Amino acid sequence: MYNKKVKIELETEKSKVIKRIVDEMKIEKNVNDESAFETLVTTIISQNTSDKNTIRAVKLLKKEIGINVESILSVDKEKIVECIKPAGLYNVKAPRIIELAKKIKYELGDERKLDLMDDYEVKEFLSKVKGIGPKTIDIFLAFKRGRDIIPVDTHVSRVSKRLGIANKRDGYFEIRKKLEEIVPEGERLRTHFALIMFGRRVCTAKNPKCTMCPVKEDCPSSEQFLSS
Ligand code: SF4
Repeated sequence: MYNKKVKIELETEKSKVIKRIVDEMKIEKNVNDESAFETLVTTIISQNTSDKNTIRAVKLLKKEIGINVESILSVDKEKIVECIKPAGLYNVKAPRIIELAKKIKYELGDERKLDLMDDYEVKEFLSKVKGIGPKTIDIFLAFKRGRDIIPVDTHVSRVSKRLGIANKRDGYFEIRKKLEEIVPEGERLRTHFALIMFGRRVCTAKNPKCTMCPVKEDCPSSEQFLSS
């Protein structure tokens, strides 16, 4: 739970709002037993699509091919395309998945070597793969290494902007920095999950449910949505 130092930070209104959302969403500890490669592939598949479509595509890929470096490199691109079709942009995503698998195989030899790299080396390695950006790298570091960071996905970004924590034009790093300034250490990954759940259930992209929102009194966007 929040320590004394963190309580001081929570004096700001924005911290309190975030804490209320985290409490409301009742996020349990994250369990992620995927391999490093699977986490990265899932994140590539999830780009620009819904969670539902991502899950369908990942399940299909896992069932038909398997999600590890060897299995991905043992089939041709079309087979991967077929599996990930539900997630859209399959002609972009399939080559990215293959490129990632090749880079790991030919530069590292074994995907488990990713685990032996320090964070800086991981960032250097992954940032050279087409289609892997800061969000994917942050997800990897947070999920697989337990780093205390808030990866910013589409839900986290939208909610942060509507709540006035971030500005409309803020990019990935600005939003992450602003959130991390007001979220206590040790609570950041849980906050990441809470904001995603809140974005899916309450502060949805279309027709946010402002009337039932637990932080509507403190949200600068509520008036706009409630009056429309
Ligand atoms: S009041 Fe509406 S816009 Fe503001 S956080 Fe809640 S659901 Fe989102």
